[in-house]
Amino acid sequence: MDNKIKVGIVSCSGEDLPEGSISRLATLEVLLKRKPLDTTTICLPLYIAGGEGDRLFAKNYPTITVDGCDKLCAKKATEKYSGRVSHSINVKDFIKDGEEPVNRRNLNNKEKEIANRVANEIEKNVDRILRKGRD
Ligand code: SF4
Repeated sequence: MDNKIKVGIVSCSGEDLPEGSISRLATLEVLLKRKPLDTTTICLPLYIAGGEGDRLFAKNYPTITVDGCDKLCAKKATEKYSGRVSHSINVKDFIKDGEEPVNRRNLNNKEKEIANRVANEIEKNVDRILRKGRD
């Protein structure tokens, strides 16, 4: 496997909404467990504050952003400073009718299930981007 290409995953840092915590849990699941060799992350607050290394990375490598709400902070910041993202995920799109995440700290099983769905979407797109990069 060619591991030269890495995909940057940028999660929003929303502390105020359960969906922000879900976006970080899903991102960590992919970074640490599912695709540790194929992915890396960018610290969004540092990135916004002017982290040159992170901005350069996102200019040169494909990125996936994961946001907790329609404000899409991770996507907007990445596109503002580094250019178009390869894929953008909004946790809201993975919440089924009748599900209502409520916890910001200790996620319950339902909220973890939503995070798992989001992680599946991240993983699917990491694979797609890597396949495309190798073609
Ligand atoms: S996308 Fe929404 S949840 Fe995430 S940091 Fe922005 S406002 Fe907060």
